[in-house]
Amino acid sequence: MNEQPNNEKKDNNSGDKGLFLKLLLVSVILTFAFNIINTYRVLRETMEIPYSTFLEWVDKGYIESVVFKSDNLEITLKKGAKPDKAVNTSGVYRTGYIPNDDLIPKLVKKKIEFSTPVEYNSPYLSFFLSWVIPLLLFFFIFRMLTRAFDGRMGGVMGVGRSNAKVYMEHETGVTFNDVAGQDEAKESLVEIIDYLHDPEKYSKIGAKQPKGALLVGPPGTGKTLLAKAVAGEAKVTFLSLSGSDFVEMFVGVGASRVRDLFKQAQESAPSIVFIDEIDAIGKSRDNQIGGNDEREQTLNQLLSEMDGFDTSKGIVILAATNRPEVLDKALLRPGRFDRRIIVEKPDLIGRENILKVHAKNVKMGPDVDFKKIALATSGAVGADLANMVNEAALRAVRMGREEVVQEDLLEAVEVVIAGKEKKDRILSDKEKEIVSYHEVGHALAAALQKNTQPVQKITIVPRTMGALGYTMQMPEEEKYLMSKDEMFAEIVVLLAGRTAEEVKFNSITTGASNDIERATSMARAMISQYGMSEHFDMMQLESIQNRYLDGRAVSDCSAETLARLDNEVLEVIKKAHKTARELIESQADALDEISRFLIERETITGEEFMDILKKYTVQEEATDETAENQTT
Ligand code: ADP
Ligand code: ZN
Repeated sequence: MNEQPNNEKKDNNSGDKGLFLKLLLVSVILTFAFNIINTYRVLRETMEIPYSTFLEWVDKGYIESVVFKSDNLEITLKKGAKPDKAVNTSGVYRTGYIPNDDLIPKLVKKKIEFSTPVEYNSPYLSFFLSWVIPLLLFFFIFRMLTRAFDGRMGGVMGVGRSNAKVYMEHETGVTFNDVAGQDEAKESLVEIIDYLHDPEKYSKIGAKQPKGALLVGPPGTGKTLLAKAVAGEAKVTFLSLSGSDFVEMFVGVGASRVRDLFKQAQESAPSIVFIDEIDAIGKSRDNQIGGNDEREQTLNQLLSEMDGFDTSKGIVILAATNRPEVLDKALLRPGRFDRRIIVEKPDLIGRENILKVHAKNVKMGPDVDFKKIALATSGAVGADLANMVNEAALRAVRMGREEVVQEDLLEAVEVVIAGKEKKDRILSDKEKEIVSYHEVGHALAAALQKNTQPVQKITIVPRTMGALGYTMQMPEEEKYLMSKDEMFAEIVVLLAGRTAEEVKFNSITTGASNDIERATSMARAMISQYGMSEHFDMMQLESIQNRYLDGRAVSDCSAETLARLDNEVLEVIKKAHKTARELIESQADALDEISRFLIERETITGEEFMDILKKYTVQEEATDETAENQTT
């Protein structure tokens, strides 16, 4: 999430140009309007007659005067002359001019006054109107078009100028204190900061500093933030550019941008050059169909600039990517981006700290428990957490509170995960009932199994991101390993929503597609990646492609094996479905009561849920015991 204040820069100088453009447009429109009105007036006041009629009138002596215009004759009748074909009240007529040698002597003979108007237009004015204005107009239209392109492709006029896009800050003002967690990444960057502080210390001994480091990690984990913090800690200039800015539609532009960027960095050394999304230019050059000349040239330029620049000056290149596997090997060679700094998704403590960093500028109430929020946000990255804190603050304002309370934060977590509450989507009573049973089904399966996370909240208020209801579970602690039993239990929980619908209504709805998707991919991962199947033992069947992006699995095995894998997945799903059904059926009464309670309240807490459920489970235990007592 790289800010791009250069847009502001662009707009600044376009202000007076815009005014000039407007004036120009107004004057052009006025000129046109004047011409049109004039033409219209002439057309209205004069009437066109055939040339033969004109000659006839000349002979008959009706005509007072004739004005030879550039392409027609303007004829004024004598006062009182009433030729039969004349109907015009103004007495002025026009006719096209047919070159006729006899006409002038005839007019002289008849003593008719004739003349031709002198062009009073100054030659300068006409030159201005016919040349300068159109040229200016073309120029501005061209400018406007190129500016429109600018946003997407970086400008035709400024071909090769990287300045337009480079984001430069002399003082980032960001320090390591603003980056929570990521201690390993910080540690690797400390040396770079030291080097930037005092490059000579290193060059005196002859130690070569790394020219560049590659920050690798999923989006939103704080790679840009870390790069800025390095610049802030070292108090050096921060220049940043996104990899995609280099890739242009014109061959050679990217390369010249690279050159400019490095020139600028050298001028403002010591400095940090940060290239975001470097995979846009650094993609491996082989195995490409057709190839991409422009990108290749840009990459080559980048490589040669990196080799060429003087390290003693104090320039460090940081680059970020979430697809390190596609990068060209040449980029990763020693002397280039030879350091790789992994910026992982934050763990529990990391998340708690990130929340605290962002909460610094927000008024927090005394009941706020960041640890709990951190527990509920497993898998969230720094950007998500920053967003949640802000959402919570917004909610507090909406609620008319002075400070953020825990409830705001919990709601914000849900907003980020499931979208905003959609109060205007009205469910019919029947639908509400189905959704309610579905969600309670999930909750029951979670509560009745061992290896599951406790239920935090159940709601049937629809959300903007599509969920009609929502069961929130919260782990008691962060887990890094998941056992086979836990995975299976989670699949059971996922399938239990639909199972509850089946048990209660004996019908099937479309509401479970997301549950099914997640359950299936989990079951598949168990077998294809984690070696949790009897049949395949510890064989890997699928591998993860973009580890830092969607983490899509790609199969590594033959079609036959894949078919078998599908069968195994089906087995797991079937088994989980059966387990879910048994669980739900064993607590059909609790399902009824809790669902009715949920329909009434729309949102219930985990405690309310457990209170009702306990009535049934405790009873059961009691009856079990009495039964045992009786037998003994
Ligand atoms: P990336 O470059 O990895 O995609 P950014 O550095 O742009 O991610 O992070 C986006 C925002 O998320 C940051 O501006 C910051 O507000 C927040 N953020 C991310 N990671 C952290 C962190 N470790 N500590 C504090 N804030 C973070
Ligand atoms: Zn569900």
